Amino acid sequence: MNNSHKPYPFNHHRTQLFILVRGVVQGVGFRPFVYNLAKGLGLAGQVANTGRGVEIQVQGTGEILSSFLDQLRNSPPAASRIDSIQIRWDQEAVPVSTFTIIASENGHATTLIPPDLATCDDCLTEILDPADRRFDYPFTNCTNCGPRLTIIRKIPYDRSRTSMVYFQMCPQCKREYEDPGDRRFHAQPNACPVCGPRVSWHDRYGRLLTDNNSAVLNSCATALARGYIVAIKGLGGFHLAVDGSSEQAITRLRQRKKRPDKPLAIMAKDLNSLKSKKICRLKPDEEDLLQSRERPIVLLAKRGPDLNEPLAPGMAMLGVMLPYTPLHHLLFARNECPALLVMTSGNKSGAPICTENEEALSELAGIADFFLLHNREIVTRVDDSVARVGAGRTRLIRRARGYAPLPVTFNGTDRAMLGCGAELKNTFCMTRPGEAFVSQHMGDLKGPDNMVFFEESICYYKKTLDISPEVVVRDLHPDYLSSRFADATALPCNRVQHHQAHAGAVMAEHRLDECLAVVYDGAGLGSDGTIWGGEIFHIRQGRCLRMVHLYPFSLPGGDHATREIWRIALSLLHEAGLAGGQRSWLPPELAALDTGKKKTILTMIEKKVNSPPCSSMGRLFDGISALLGIRQQVTFEAQAAMELESLALQATFSPGDHSCPEAVTGSIATDGATITMDHRPLLRRIAADRQKGIKTADLALFFHHWLIRTTTAAIDRICLSGWEKKQDAPPIVLAGGCFQNRILLESLVNELENRGFRVYSGEKIPVNDGGIALGQVLLAGYALK
Ligand code: ZN
Ligand code: ZN
Ligand code: FE
Repeated sequence: MNNSHKPYPFNHHRTQLFILVRGVVQGVGFRPFVYNLAKGLGLAGQVANTGRGVEIQVQGTGEILSSFLDQLRNSPPAASRIDSIQIRWDQEAVPVSTFTIIASENGHATTLIPPDLATCDDCLTEILDPADRRFDYPFTNCTNCGPRLTIIRKIPYDRSRTSMVYFQMCPQCKREYEDPGDRRFHAQPNACPVCGPRVSWHDRYGRLLTDNNSAVLNSCATALARGYIVAIKGLGGFHLAVDGSSEQAITRLRQRKKRPDKPLAIMAKDLNSLKSKKICRLKPDEEDLLQSRERPIVLLAKRGPDLNEPLAPGMAMLGVMLPYTPLHHLLFARNECPALLVMTSGNKSGAPICTENEEALSELAGIADFFLLHNREIVTRVDDSVARVGAGRTRLIRRARGYAPLPVTFNGTDRAMLGCGAELKNTFCMTRPGEAFVSQHMGDLKGPDNMVFFEESICYYKKTLDISPEVVVRDLHPDYLSSRFADATALPCNRVQHHQAHAGAVMAEHRLDECLAVVYDGAGLGSDGTIWGGEIFHIRQGRCLRMVHLYPFSLPGGDHATREIWRIALSLLHEAGLAGGQRSWLPPELAALDTGKKKTILTMIEKKVNSPPCSSMGRLFDGISALLGIRQQVTFEAQAAMELESLALQATFSPGDHSCPEAVTGSIATDGATITMDHRPLLRRIAADRQKGIKTADLALFFHHWLIRTTTAAIDRICLSGWEKKQDAPPIVLAGGCFQNRILLESLVNELENRGFRVYSGEKIPVNDGGIALGQVLLAGYALK
């Protein structure tokens, strides 16, 4: 075996190389690339997809073989990712005269499942060209683009193991498929209007109206232009689409979907039309992300309070994506089609997105006016990914289409493990030596049918990746459905605390063994039985020490307080000694609170009745939002916190007026070995400032600044007692859902980097609960080492 670079020890003797290429090398045009490369250099041999990767045998002499290897390393197909190249050689091999591609073998499936890729420029040109045989054909693809994970049943990846098996290639498609010089050489989902899948157009009752490809697309564009809601079967599931510039249509969609405020993502015809609509600000790295082959929904800063308000009410950001299948491109190519379409997941509130025609017709009845269906089965459900650019890096918020199920390089245990994740925004994670596979976004496991999706997906990953977990890992919380699932397996079960798992996810992604982890998150069960979510841990070799936490406050009514956040506001007032009497500075909604109701809540807090203590930063954000009068109830997770951030971005704050040393000084208290971040001085300061009539937006930003300063002060204090020199302190990890907040992430990264710390946060793996499963396997793995 030889993994090193030059020089190669080949000479003028005829040598045979055995090369194993591992990584994302199947379904991305790798074999044709190797074939053409070898042919071009006049080398003989063969190439095959096996369960281990791509295996190549080539015969030739010194320089030519070196040139072959150089090009293999340096110019592989754009969609591929080479993780390793292993080479053996033999100078006694039986000479062969040609280069051939060998059909796949049924091996152990230790290779990767490629993710779905957005339509490439070559395919796009074809479908828009009236002279091309694929003109207007919505299932056009090639080795560089098209469906993968969503159609693959088993690997090695071959047509017979995908949902394309039911479509027999016509002679012309077959010729392309077999011609090594063709862009569709061994493109497994290859199809054309003659032989491939078809779309069909149905009314709200599911009655077929037409199944002529072009007529379907025309009808769909017309319906959208008229403001109808259309359920469109896509790549990894259904979308519900409406005209993104029609407030009426959007309102109707929100009513029918019972989704009053939650932001809706839009798809824009292309980058130019997005720019000309002037609905959001675009930076160059955001443009790149929008146009990347993964095509995530990208969160962009909204521009002006205008037509985009109904899309994401109260939010500073708007989710935007560009077309990623031929169907999308062909719809937008119709003159009538609106240039902005709302494209939201086609599900009933909380349920997984529909993938089957019959299922969609019944689940989305009463929501959709028309259905655009097709007859290519979706094997694996995959949502749109959501990403943004923060502190100079691409950061995934929901990791699914285009990214999953590619593994992250994993330094943890070699044992096969299954991390079951948390409950909201669930993902699970499976490991094999050197690789951790984080599943695509599963959603809220409590939603109807989501557990079925979770269990089916675990089976799919086990089967396709050929992993049999020896150990399962779950959250400390015994009632999460993922925890119950873990307990019900017959495997040894490890537990990892929720917020430590958040830190573990960032550590796994950046391969850190030790860190100071700032975890600001929603509620999760702590090791002491109380609710955590605002802590700083010192983590080393899997051992976690809780160094800092938020000063605890109670959550009157438990889970009720998560929705009725005015309860948290009362609890914070109570802690700060501000709950009694008439408070003129309170927002009207809080001031007008029924005195009886208020009394009951305060009694609950005092008597500790159904009022568990918590140190959750997410809940502090909620409480502050309620105190500032931003809102008193939430309809989806993190709504109030996102609005607080959005409002802070409108502040006209000059730090001189509000710099607040006393709040910071009083905000850090040391109690034995632990440090608390005390919000009571902050509350008193907010009360005083509101009395002075300081603007809510300024106070919203002030709160962010308070948090940033208090955090850096806490880290300084830890370092003071823990390490002689700051350079000796471990890197800082920022994890938990609160770090989706841009102000918090960017300012804290800046502050800490300026102080000489190395700072890491989630990039490919979300900082929210979507990363928990990865953190679980990393931290539990130490115990097994
Ligand atoms: Zn293509
Ligand atoms: Zn065909
Ligand atoms: Fe969490």
